[in-house]
Amino acid sequence: MAAIELSGLTRRFKDTTAVDAVDLTVEDGDFLVLLGPSGCGKSTLLRMLAGLLEPTAGTIRIGNADVTALSPRRRGIAMVFQNYALYPHLSVRQNLSFPLRFAKLTKEEKQQKVAAVAESLDIAALLDRKPKELSGGQCQRVAVGRALVRDPQAFLMDEPLSNLDASLRTSTRQELTSLHRQLGATFIYVTHDQVEAMTMATRIVVLNKGRIEQVGTPLDVYDAPASVFVAQFIGSPAMNLVPATVTSRDGTVHLVGEGISVPLWEGETEDLEVYLGVRPEHLRPLTPHESGSAQVRLGCQLTHTEHLGNEEILYGQVAGTEVRIRRPRTGQAHPGPSAPERSADLTFALEHLHLFDRKTGRRLV
Ligand code: ATP
Repeated sequence: MAAIELSGLTRRFKDTTAVDAVDLTVEDGDFLVLLGPSGCGKSTLLRMLAGLLEPTAGTIRIGNADVTALSPRRRGIAMVFQNYALYPHLSVRQNLSFPLRFAKLTKEEKQQKVAAVAESLDIAALLDRKPKELSGGQCQRVAVGRALVRDPQAFLMDEPLSNLDASLRTSTRQELTSLHRQLGATFIYVTHDQVEAMTMATRIVVLNKGRIEQVGTPLDVYDAPASVFVAQFIGSPAMNLVPATVTSRDGTVHLVGEGISVPLWEGETEDLEVYLGVRPEHLRPLTPHESGSAQVRLGCQLTHTEHLGNEEILYGQVAGTEVRIRRPRTGQAHPGPSAPERSADLTFALEHLHLFDRKTGRRLV
């Protein structure tokens, strides 16, 4: 297997730039997830990699070879389609050997190859069954196996779990992760589902309007989102983002706004309009005992609580913006959504503060 390198990769459709000058290196053995909202260019990027769509500009290299102009079959990349596209009238064995029909191998060599792949995917006992006699997870293994017989450099997958129900999706996610580990192959996987990305990826590429917002491990992207877009896209409920101003007073830099008081560090600064970012699990009401002395303080009007069984989400308003606080369940009572409003001061540990430039949307701290 080899590294895959995209440089300046661009695809335009009339007046839409679906993929805009993307530079990206996929390391050998990565489980790389392309993540972003509908229309951000994920499928277009994947289809260019597979050779199903011609780039408007830019290059694709695999190992040391420029494959930009090569046909799909000659670039050694295997696409596993959403519905797995197995031939229903063929057995698992025939489905697996189908891609080898033009290969310059003897019949015995083809049979050996199919047997070895079936063994490695633990589907050897299913070789004489038809696709309709298989479970969803087994179909997926056959689809991967059909790609594997061609010894591909990488597997490409476009939202393969989107047609499955929630519980099957969870088990298939685990299956794909273990398959990736077992094969040690490079997977490039498209989804708009942050849970799939967080649970399976070794690295996530967050795309927005055809451009890369951030590349990192799932924890990098969660702990230090590079932009407001990433901060809002990853995490549920989304990160709280409250407009505030960075300003200096008496040799100390503060974060201030309507009811907001957060001392940051010693020094001077020009005023800067920012978003104060705190994840819902890092925000909490001050206890009566702390309320006299707390330095970090956001004046909040709590509006209602959502009970999720094991935890609860408190909703409120800070500086005219909705905020969410996530915490373990506090009691037996279930007051319902119409609990009376009350005001409370909120706080958080400064290590959990994120700051974004309000003009550019980029991360400052
Ligand atoms: P989804 O999650 O909805 O599949 P996506 O992130 O995969 O979305 P793409 O399918 O890559 O997004 O589309 C990116 C942009 O390019 C969209 O604005 C889409 O409308 C446009 N686009 C894609 N294919 C074509 C086409 N064949 N002709 C014109 N515009 C296209």
